Amino acid sequence: MLTVTLITLAAATMLALAVAAGSILGWANRAFYVAVDARVTRIQSVLPGVNCSGCGYVGCGEYAEAVAAGDAAVNLCAPGGASCAQAVAGIMGVDVEPSWPYRAIVHCAARFDQRLGRSEYRGELSCSAANLVAGYQGCTYGCLGLEDCVRSCEFDAIHVIEGLAVIDYRKCTGCGACVDACPRHIISRVPFKASRILAVACSNQDFGNDVRAVCTFGCIGCKACERVSSLFAMQDNLPVLDYDSYEPDSAPQAEELDKSIEKCPMESLLWVGEPAPEDILATADEELPLRAVADFKTTVDQAEWRG
Ligand code: SF4
Ligand code: SF4
Repeated sequence: MLTVTLITLAAATMLALAVAAGSILGWANRAFYVAVDARVTRIQSVLPGVNCSGCGYVGCGEYAEAVAAGDAAVNLCAPGGASCAQAVAGIMGVDVEPSWPYRAIVHCAARFDQRLGRSEYRGELSCSAANLVAGYQGCTYGCLGLEDCVRSCEFDAIHVIEGLAVIDYRKCTGCGACVDACPRHIISRVPFKASRILAVACSNQDFGNDVRAVCTFGCIGCKACERVSSLFAMQDNLPVLDYDSYEPDSAPQAEELDKSIEKCPMESLLWVGEPAPEDILATADEELPLRAVADFKTTVDQAEWRG
């Protein structure tokens, strides 16, 4: 009889505890409830989930929250591209603002052989570390070739070839991670209004003789390009290309730009992106250089650029 009483008492106690705990949890659920915008989950489900931060937010989740809150544009995900922007816009019930696909450009064209005055470097194999060591290479502006940008790229779209960072335009999504990673700030994102555009492939701001002493390709600030095309404006001894006014389909502009390339004594102006038909013919039997192949698919944001 005593045993039955004890069991009943224990069961009643357990039941009372369960009811009390349930009531507390129910109250806490109501008291601390935070409404979650269902659109956040839906937006996250259409983002690629690579968390590259190219949109300017810590990850895809934070970007989804910002979009749902109306604090971010729907087309900031470069890896997701136009289809992703369209899907996010659909969830938000808005139209996508048209924008150009942005891609990375490396403002340096010198490979090992073209860099003069290199000395042995035995420090940590990273550009950030080497950038602190005076005299590792003569040019204090050019690519250090130790792959900080390569490690930052989620898309395997940038490689160091013979000491120079080279973009693979088949893979670059324009996310800008490499732009942030480069301690020398020689990578920028520019709007590709055509599959092949002109780029200033040098970042050296020194005067001509100093540039010639450290690089066979460096821009010597002679202003020849500026004299033939109004698209260039000299800044810190370097021509800056006005991508806002650059219209690749404009015949007069194309003529001027071709002339600027001809006039450049240092070959510091380069076409980047998709190869021209004549280049494809000329290299029909060879493997194409990585930077001469493009596949443009995305629409991305309005970050600043320079060329
Ligand atoms: S190369 Fe740069 S911009 Fe292009 S995908 Fe890689 S990190 Fe992003
Ligand atoms: S582009 Fe910048 S980060 Fe990339 S290898 Fe050159 S110096 Fe290093």
